[in-house]
Amino acid sequence: MAKKKVLVTGGAGFIGGNFVQHMVNKYSDYDIYNLDLLTYAGDLTKHHSIEERGNYHFIKADITDRKTILPLFRKEKFDFVVHFAAESHVDRSITDPEIFVRTNVLGTQVLLDAAKEVGVKKFLHVSTDEVYGELDFDPSTFFTEETPLQPNSPYSASKASSDLLVRAYHETFGLPINITRCSNNYGPYHFPEKLIPLTISRVLNDQKVPVYGNGGNIRDWLHVHDHCAAIDLVLHQGVNGEVYNVGGHNERTNLEVVKTIIKTLGKSEDLIEFVKDRPGHDKRYAIDPSKLEKLGWKPAYSFETGIAQTIQWYLDNKDWWERIISGEYQTYFSKQYSFS
Ligand code: NAD
Repeated sequence: MAKKKVLVTGGAGFIGGNFVQHMVNKYSDYDIYNLDLLTYAGDLTKHHSIEERGNYHFIKADITDRKTILPLFRKEKFDFVVHFAAESHVDRSITDPEIFVRTNVLGTQVLLDAAKEVGVKKFLHVSTDEVYGELDFDPSTFFTEETPLQPNSPYSASKASSDLLVRAYHETFGLPINITRCSNNYGPYHFPEKLIPLTISRVLNDQKVPVYGNGGNIRDWLHVHDHCAAIDLVLHQGVNGEVYNVGGHNERTNLEVVKTIIKTLGKSEDLIEFVKDRPGHDKRYAIDPSKLEKLGWKPAYSFETGIAQTIQWYLDNKDWWERIISGEYQTYFSKQYSFS
């Protein structure tokens, strides 16, 4: 029987990279194609351990480049598409929204056209809880799949736009789809501009850690391996056309997260520096994952275990993140925050 072909876009990034490894290791009877443009957020060194596997393939391409994407789909006739590729950092979307619209909206539409033309069995669009906007601090409120989309940042607006296009291709053209909307991820290979790896890398170097506002904004944290398992499940068992929220009931304020990391590394809270709040900073995100749980998903990591393992991973893999923070990242960081 011919091997199933799975196209993973953005497989050189954080979550896509973890997902590619999950799939290559778990399904020797699938061919996994990682399509990525290798922007500042893409890095292939993480895949050294799977490069020689016969079922891993890399394609360098831009999802917005219709002239490359359509012929590629015609040639390879992918069975499944799992779409991660995106501009993903809220702060960058505030300083430069245009690339977010181009990559996240136009790029998704090009992929949808290609998927429709060759008749893929499923197009799984990886989205975010940020499309729902924000919740207040009432702990009994959660985002469900029925919560209206009310994105507040250019990033989340571009993701919500792509979600609507995916929905429309299902309704109009009958394209088989699922959309997953996940809370904040953490774990290995997380790019050090995001809160957890930023804090770990700066604390390890005894550098100040910027915390927006009073640090009271709440995020719902999920280990990236739990997210990958959820996507695998939805890819194989998700009901056609349905949206699934993914979250692990791990709400923490940003300040709690930073203090946990500082304490685990045995450093002083004097490293915390409160900085001017992000404009339009969403107060709280929290997910109701019961629809996905009914499909059979349960997170394997508690936040305490996951964060301890993640901190250890950053201690063991200094070469990886030190190389990243030594490049273009330094220019970005000093533009973003007024100290370094
Ligand atoms: P990331 O920024 O680490 O990786 C994005 C990848 O996409 C990079 O490898 C980059 O090179 C690639 N890419 C960017 N533009 C491209 C283009 N035009 N063509 C091809 N490849 C391109 O992102 P991430 O944190 O791994 O997030 C992956 C997806 O998951 C995104 O769609 C994001 O919206 C979603 N998501 C992220 C989180 C989170 O906590 N990080 C939570 C929920 C959902």
